Amino acid sequence: MKVSILGSGSSGNSIFVEVNKVKILIDAGFSGKKIKEKLEVIGEDINNINALLITHEHGDHTLGAGIISRKHNIPMYITEESYNACSHKLGKVEPSKLNFLEDKFYLEDVLITPFDVMHDAVRTVGFSVEYKDKKLTLATDIGHITNLVKEQFKGSQIAIIECNYDYDMLMNCEYPWDLKNRVKSRNGHLCNDDTAKFLTELYHENLEKVYLVHVSKDSNCYNLAYNTVEFELIKNDINIDLEIVRQNTVTPIYSLKKV
Ligand SMILES: [Zn+2]
Ligand SMILES: [Zn+2]
Repeated sequence: MKVSILGSGSSGNSIFVEVNKVKILIDAGFSGKKIKEKLEVIGEDINNINALLITHEHGDHTLGAGIISRKHNIPMYITEESYNACSHKLGKVEPSKLNFLEDKFYLEDVLITPFDVMHDAVRTVGFSVEYKDKKLTLATDIGHITNLVKEQFKGSQIAIIECNYDYDMLMNCEYPWDLKNRVKSRNGHLCNDDTAKFLTELYHENLEKVYLVHVSKDSNCYNLAYNTVEFELIKNDINIDLEIVRQNTVTPIYSLKKV
């Protein structure tokens, strides 16, 4: 199983996963042209993508989704609720290429499990991607870690989780009050401390790679997010490969080694 994050933050999100020769893109929150270029950085041709999974309808996850599905014949997997909320922005999606998410399903031999998370979209899901004993789980926009989310992340070798804001920076930033309240609500985003606690609880010996994503540019900074999580992990004697993901940087391909 291989993964590369093509960029993450409020200006765009997209993740490439390859397992057993199935190439998956999760979210397409950059322009079609940018996604194509970002895939080229890791040596991938957009025409070889087998499936596009969408977490929710917000523009930072769907900007290029319609265009790449049309132009490169990529089947899209999205909840019906999210599709209805953003279909006017996606443009026409070929009916044979449109798949509404509900239960787990297979892409060839790769099991995809969507699971609901709390966020301020009409519906938001995270995904697990599993093949044999390999498992990757992600939740990029998540206001609160529910028991379902904890269950779903269990046993993952790769975890991709939001580390959105620092509480004090959020309270002191320029946002209006209603936006601050929305961000920190159970339907908003996850703060550095909550991400750190979640990872400490989640830790198991096969968890080998963690990506911290969707770092806010206004109410967080990369070093603070990384250090907050690392401090909590070290305090609990946990040593994992932790990587902070930037808005505009494509992370090098990471391949699982322990399994
Ligand atoms: Zn969102
Ligand atoms: Zn987002």
